[in-house]
Amino acid sequence: MSDRLELAGRALQRPLCNHCLGRLFAFVSRGLSNEQRGVMIRTSMSDAPRSPDRISDCGICRGLFGEIDKFAELCLKESEVYEFSTFLVGTKIDAEIVEREEAFWTEVGAKETESIKAEMNREIGKVLERKLGKIVDFGNPEIVFLIDTRFDRVILDVTPLFVYGRYRKYSRGLPQTRWPCRECRGKGCPRCGGKGRMYESSVQDLVGPIVMKHADGTEDFFHGMGREDIDARMLGNGRPFVAEVRKPRKRALDLASIEREINAGAKGLIEIEGLRSSTRTELRAIKESTHPKTYRVRVRFQHAVDHGKLNELVAALAGKPISQLTPNRVAHRRAHLERKRTVRDIKVESVEGPEVVFVVEADSGTYIKELMHGDEGRTKPNVAEFVGVPCQVLELDVIGIGDTGA
Ligand SMILES: [Zn+2]
Ligand SMILES: [Zn+2]
Repeated sequence: MSDRLELAGRALQRPLCNHCLGRLFAFVSRGLSNEQRGVMIRTSMSDAPRSPDRISDCGICRGLFGEIDKFAELCLKESEVYEFSTFLVGTKIDAEIVEREEAFWTEVGAKETESIKAEMNREIGKVLERKLGKIVDFGNPEIVFLIDTRFDRVILDVTPLFVYGRYRKYSRGLPQTRWPCRECRGKGCPRCGGKGRMYESSVQDLVGPIVMKHADGTEDFFHGMGREDIDARMLGNGRPFVAEVRKPRKRALDLASIEREINAGAKGLIEIEGLRSSTRTELRAIKESTHPKTYRVRVRFQHAVDHGKLNELVAALAGKPISQLTPNRVAHRRAHLERKRTVRDIKVESVEGPEVVFVVEADSGTYIKELMHGDEGRTKPNVAEFVGVPCQVLELDVIGIGDTGA
């Protein structure tokens, strides 16, 4: 202890507030604030100078610790309109103060110190916890207060609202997400008829704006677990998605009633279910997921194909790896790459003359239409080539996502 009293004696050659004194010993003991530590050290010394009458006379912080309540008030004012239950405080401290303090530590030989920024964050956090009745959360705060102590400015970082659900899509003309016009990028032009978009609506348009209206946010995003072609239906248990709303003012939403409102508004184009709140972590998992998909695909061959040949095809393709060069139909927006995928299973569901319905389970990201017609040899092997009869895809539905199929 005497070493520490000596250190305190050296430090108190200059005027220090109790915060800045206590911070020199921040890691000596737990359970006290730096201010309490400062008071304790001062009283345990026989000849310690009193703390400065005005905190602005402190030789390190120049009074910053006298402004904690003011910063807390700024945070309260900025966050008034937002509903949240957890938060975190971050501060920007004048570089001059930080440099002054670090030089001081070297000068007096202090080694168990804490940065001024860490103490400011914590002390403002404590005041806010008390005034707001909400708690500091280091992992997933709903609001982060970024306080610039130099200019008394607070910027709010509001965590988006994430809502999970699954959608079935019954329309063959609906993209998953809003698709801005390529010509005008959303402003409206003759090509898009002034609408600014390539399609009238989308799954996102039927879901996002309704969630956004209730959350009172500024912008919506839609993240699906993969996507189906515009002309493919999405059936079975539906496709998992996360709808994201930026800067939500409301978080406690009645999701069951929002789900009913979305389904009523969609007029049979889509149907959603299982709406519940979600997180950024789940959103990431959904974006990265590589579940296999099960499809039902109706194909018309140029002429009827005999059953024996179809049985051979099924036996030969099931479990087989295939190679797919980027299809012609998407080559304008995707890089030319070779994909290796596996056809996990393929079955013939029905045959009516030249029309055959297959049920195919394949790796995530398999181009199913191309697996059928071959895309001028860019997918190998493919159904048309194996059977020896060209074919076209009439209808494609996703009927299951995940190993279970549907
Ligand atoms: Zn100070
Ligand atoms: Zn346009």
